[in-house]
Amino acid sequence: MLTGIKLRLYPNQTQVGQLWQMFGNDRFVWNKMLDMMNERYKNNTDLPFLSKFKLNYLLKPLKKEYPFLKNSDSSSLQLVNEFLNQSWKNFFKDKTGTVGKPRFHSRRYLKPSYTGKSIVKIAGSRYLYLPKLGYIKTSKTGVLKDVKIKRYTVSLEPTGKYYLSIQAEVKELEKLKKTGKRVGIDVGVADLAILSTGLKYPSFDASYFEKQSRIWQSKYSRRRHQAYLLCEQDKNQKVLNPRSLDSFSNWQRACKLKARYQKKVANKRKDYLHKLTTHLVRQYDVIAIEDLKVKNLQKNHCLAKAIANASWSMFRQMLEYKCERYGKELIAVNPQNTSRICSKCGFNSGAKPLEIREWTCPICQVHHDRDINAAVNILHKAMPAL
Ligand SMILES: [Zn+2]
Repeated sequence: MLTGIKLRLYPNQTQVGQLWQMFGNDRFVWNKMLDMMNERYKNNTDLPFLSKFKLNYLLKPLKKEYPFLKNSDSSSLQLVNEFLNQSWKNFFKDKTGTVGKPRFHSRRYLKPSYTGKSIVKIAGSRYLYLPKLGYIKTSKTGVLKDVKIKRYTVSLEPTGKYYLSIQAEVKELEKLKKTGKRVGIDVGVADLAILSTGLKYPSFDASYFEKQSRIWQSKYSRRRHQAYLLCEQDKNQKVLNPRSLDSFSNWQRACKLKARYQKKVANKRKDYLHKLTTHLVRQYDVIAIEDLKVKNLQKNHCLAKAIANASWSMFRQMLEYKCERYGKELIAVNPQNTSRICSKCGFNSGAKPLEIREWTCPICQVHHDRDINAAVNILHKAMPAL
């Protein structure tokens, strides 16, 4: 089974320089090869694109002409050819006209990264050995034991931090023990998950970081705009040395901070959802949830709900693959009427405004908590025999 592992890298000064060279080399090779293939495409010579093997054959003379390419892990340049070849294939295969020709890579919009498939070795605790870079400090190495690394990607995130993403083969995990229990789950805004057993798991709170990220987002836009105005002013007044956007550091700093806070919120949410979903999959054999795609379609312009949407889909994705991995069952049901029907007698008492949190069934007189009742209904829909 393939899995992804992401580690932080702490390159030293020299390695940072090497990394930038390698990021650039990948882009360079992509653009060179693409340029050549574009020519062939224009001239319509035999086949407009070359196989990845033919492209790899061309790497040798290219390295001679541009010796700096030798600073790259050669497997990464071969992968560039493979990716380029694939994009041409996609372009030719596409009948709908939505896939364009491969485009040139620009440093302006492309995230600096390179991917290789050479061997990555563990070189002691918190140290890795990477091709061409040598020993490099990382966040942890324990997770790499017993895995076979297929591919690795080194990238620089907008936060200014370097990461190593690894695609690795792991041994099939043991299935979790069966518990004989089943549960229905309703998702909400205030409480993220409400179980048919009556348990409620609150939504994740990252208000501090969310606020910080909003503050820095607006600082960033304002500062960048101001810098832009000053640059224009210089241009208009024909100043001898007009300033460029890059010469203003305060908007760049704000950009980094903004990205850092956004990442922090995302990480915290992910972490929380991981813990919650693992807990649920351990506890229950069958988990019934609403089909969120349908629920999301019910239009709502409320911001809190928009944020909750993101959590819900991640929640579902995690449940999906964890159930599969551990041998449990996930059933998605149509959310229609789940908040209207009495879970005791099945009477449909119609739509209830959101502010009504509790109600009593007019037929069987059972008093319901709105969300728990919905969760029970979801379980019933998934298992009509119950
Ligand atoms: Zn009832």
